[in-house]
Amino acid sequence: MLVQNNQYNIGHICTKQQCDNGLGQKIAFRWLPAKGEPSSISFAELDVQSNKFANILCSLGFTTGDILFTFLPKCPEQFFSFLGTLKNQTICGTLFSNFGDEALLDRLGDSRAKGLVTKKSSLKKIGRIREQLPHLKYILVTDIDAHQSADILSYSALMAEASAEFTTAVTAPETPSVLHYTSGSTGKPKGVLHKHGSVLMQSATAREVLQLGLDDIYWCTADQGWVTGTSYGIIGPWSLGVTQVHYGGIYDASRWFELLEKEKVTIWYSAPTALRMLMREANALFANYDLSALKHIFSVGEPLNPEVIQWSRAVLNREIYDTWFQTETGAIMITNRPDLEVRTGSMGQPVAMIEPAILSDDGIPVADGEQGNLCLKSNWSSMFVSYLNNDTVYQQKFIKGYYFTGDTAVKDRDGYYWFKGRNDDVINTGGHLVSPIEIESALLELEQVAESGVIGAPDALLFEKVVVFVHLHSGHEPSKELEIKLRLHISNKVSSIATPREVFFVEKVPKNKSGKIMRRVLKARYLGHDEGDTSTLED
Ligand code: AMP
Repeated sequence: MLVQNNQYNIGHICTKQQCDNGLGQKIAFRWLPAKGEPSSISFAELDVQSNKFANILCSLGFTTGDILFTFLPKCPEQFFSFLGTLKNQTICGTLFSNFGDEALLDRLGDSRAKGLVTKKSSLKKIGRIREQLPHLKYILVTDIDAHQSADILSYSALMAEASAEFTTAVTAPETPSVLHYTSGSTGKPKGVLHKHGSVLMQSATAREVLQLGLDDIYWCTADQGWVTGTSYGIIGPWSLGVTQVHYGGIYDASRWFELLEKEKVTIWYSAPTALRMLMREANALFANYDLSALKHIFSVGEPLNPEVIQWSRAVLNREIYDTWFQTETGAIMITNRPDLEVRTGSMGQPVAMIEPAILSDDGIPVADGEQGNLCLKSNWSSMFVSYLNNDTVYQQKFIKGYYFTGDTAVKDRDGYYWFKGRNDDVINTGGHLVSPIEIESALLELEQVAESGVIGAPDALLFEKVVVFVHLHSGHEPSKELEIKLRLHISNKVSSIATPREVFFVEKVPKNKSGKIMRRVLKARYLGHDEGDTSTLED
C-alpha cells in the first residue's frame, strides 16, 4: 500500500517507507557523473542523507510553508536536498541550472524563497541579484568545504554535523510540496504549487503507464528543474522502490547507448528532441549495443512525430509511447502505453480517473473530430493547488468544473487525443516552455533595442525555435556583432534554451492600437502566410 498510517509525505514515502518495506539495501540510484567513477546509493543511504538535510533545515528555522529552491545540475545533492526539504514539510522548488540572472530573480523574488541550494559556480550570478532578494536568508553551497559567511554555508560541513535521525511528521495530502515555475505568454512566470497528495497519481502512473516494478532499472533523462524530473525522476519511481539511473552528462549518443547497455536499463523515459537527435545518428551506431534488457521507451514534452516512432520500430526494434502532461497536472494524464494500440501522431488515451474533454472557449463540448481546448475535469490528486500569489489567473483556468490546459487538441471517435498546438504564444523549444515576454523584456535592457517581438517557429529538431525581431533605436545599425550580443544577453539573462536561432532586424514591430505586440502577425510574415485581420494594427 502506498500510503501507510495516513503518511502522505513524499520524502518519507520515497525513502524511509522503502526501508521499512525491506528495500533498505536495494540501490535507489546509480550515479553516473559526466566524468569520474559511477557509484550506487541505497535507499538506506537516501534516507540518511535526506534526514540530515531535513535536520539542517529544521535547525536553520525552516518550517511548513517556507520555500527552498535547488539550483543545481544533476547531482546526488539534488536528490538528498529535495527529499529532505519535503520531509521537513518545507516547500521544495527546483530551478533549471542554466537559468540566467533575470529568470532567477523572477522566481526567487516572486516566491520569497528563504533558502537556496547551489554550486559555487553559481554564486557570482546569485551575488548580482542578491540585494533584490530580501527574503533569501540562506545559501547552501554543495562544493565548498567551509562556511563562507553567516548566510553562505557549506552543505558538506552542515551535513557532517547533522543527525542521521529524523522523524517526519505525519503529513496531510493537502500539505504543499513541490514548486515549479512555468512560463506564460503574458506576465512573469507563474509558480505552480503542488501538494504531497500528488504522490498518489505520480506513483499510480509510474506503475500503470511506465509499467515500473521492483525488478526494473529505470532511466529518466529529464532535468530535475522541470516537472518530469521531479514527478518521474524522483517521486514516481522511488515511491515504488524502483532503482533509477541518473546521468550527469549531456547528450552523447554513444555514451547514452553504452549506459542503456551497461546499466541494463529496462524502462527509458526521454523526450522527442533527444530522440530526434538520435535519429540523425548513423543506424550502424545502434547495432553496437546490446539492448536486450530494454522493454519500453516513453516520451514526453512535445509532440512525438510518427517518423521517430517508425525509426525506433525499425532501428531499435522498440515502440515509443508518447505521454502528455504539464507542470500544472503534476502527472501523466493522456498517454500511449503497452496495453493500448499506438496510433502514431496521437498522444493516446486518458489514464484511469482522468476525464479530459475538448471544449469551446466558454466550456461547451465540441464534437469528436473537431478542434477545441484540451480540458481536464477537476479535481485529480496531482492537480496543482495554486499559482503562487496569483489566484486571479488560477481561477481563470477553471470553467464549469474543467481545467483549461492552454493546449488545443482533437478527440477522435475511438477516444484517442491528438495534440494540435497551444492557444497562447508560449514557445515549446526542445520540450521546454519559453515565454516570449521574458525574452522581449530582456532585450529591452540593451541600449540599442527600441522594441522587439519574439515567436516560436517550426523546427525539425526542436519542434519550435526561438525567432526574434528587433527594431533598433536610431543611431544603431544591424551587425553580426550586435546579433551575437543579443543572443548572449538572452542566454545570460533568461537561459541557454531561450537563445534565439534567428534574429531579424526590422524597421517596425507590428503592434495593435493598444500597443500589444502582434506576434501572430510576425509569425504569419515569417511563415509567408496570410496575416489575417490586421485592422487593429497600429498605423
Ligand atoms: P510543461 O508545463 O513545461 O511541462 O509543458 C507542458 C506543455 O508541453 C503542454 O501543455 C504541451 O503544450 C506540451 N506537451 C507536453 N507533452 C506533450 C506531448 N506528449 N505532445 C504534445 N505536447 C506536449
